[in-house]
Amino acid sequence: MATRTIGDARFNHGAQYFTARSDAFRDEVNAWVEAGLVRKWTGRVVRIARQQIESCDDGRELYVGVGGMSAVPKHLVKGLDYHSGKTIARAERGNSLWSLFDDRGRLFGQAESLVLAMPAPQAIALLGEADDVARRLEDVEMDPTWALMITRATPQQIPFDAAHIEHDAVAWMMRSVEGENSWVVHATHAWSRKNLTRDPRSAAYALLAYVSDATGLDFARSGAVQAHRWRFAIPTEARPFEPPVVVDSERRLALCGDWCVRGRVESAYQSGVAAADAIARVTLSD
Ligand SMILES: Cc1cc2nc3c(=O)[nH]c(=O)nc-3n(C[C@H](O)[C@H](O)[C@H](O)COP(=O)(O)OP(=O)(O)OC[C@H]3O[C@@H](n4cnc5c(N)ncnc54)[C@H](O)[C@@H]3O)c2cc1C
Repeated sequence: MATRTIGDARFNHGAQYFTARSDAFRDEVNAWVEAGLVRKWTGRVVRIARQQIESCDDGRELYVGVGGMSAVPKHLVKGLDYHSGKTIARAERGNSLWSLFDDRGRLFGQAESLVLAMPAPQAIALLGEADDVARRLEDVEMDPTWALMITRATPQQIPFDAAHIEHDAVAWMMRSVEGENSWVVHATHAWSRKNLTRDPRSAAYALLAYVSDATGLDFARSGAVQAHRWRFAIPTEARPFEPPVVVDSERRLALCGDWCVRGRVESAYQSGVAAADAIARVTLSD
């Protein structure tokens, strides 16, 4: 749930909206709406195939963060001792404590319990491939997504706010903020995989040309463009772990993330709640 600013334009370049299907998550989202963190999004969604634009309202309620999707995680970490912008390279369990080491090998911190809330391949990298729990995640695959951000798009009047696109290179686009002409475009997983190591600038201009090709609208002379590579964007398959968390009670370790269910904000939430439950149970049983 990331938000980035380019000039005066704001982009949700990861998840651009989310849905709430289960009663428990709907209750949580209603509380977020009341707190002014999220709101319903009511733009026009279309489907585009061979440059033909058709309406496609499937009746789902879509939610967006107020002031950007990052409003939600920012709210969730309030009151916690929270550090960002720090890469942890290794997690090791000693006799009774976990130790975290940063990417320069320095001890970052120690704790009795550890929750890794991140894509499965990144959790494996922290624990080491030989770790018993890491081995349970070996076959969780994640698809990459290149995201393109476009400011001041050249087509002045675009007759939709979001589009599902049938095209080899681009799959989805959505206005970054209602009423503004800035867009986030997601590449298809196939194109993203094939172009995974491409330089972001070259990926941005390639995708800009593909958006014009896919929609029949001319984006070539838009303002600034930037591309972001999500290396582990979405779990390749829905793979419900039941409950949606991987736990090692003896070492007080829980691994969670959307990949325990499927690639949705709601799945990440459900998995996070299951991880919190698991750690609370281990802690209380001592
Ligand atoms: C392009 C894209 C489009 C999406 N569209 C939608 C959508 O339309 N609807 C929807 O519901 N969901 C969508 N999602 C999915 C949604 O964003 C995810 O389901 C959700 O963010 C997963 O949350 P998570 O906590 O499991 O993992 P993440 O959001 O991936 O968070 C993991 C965190 O761990 C950090 N981290 C990883 N390794 C380390 C390390 N070694 N040291 C320190 N920090 C580390 C990362 O920086 C990151 O902040 C989309 C995702 C992407 C990428």
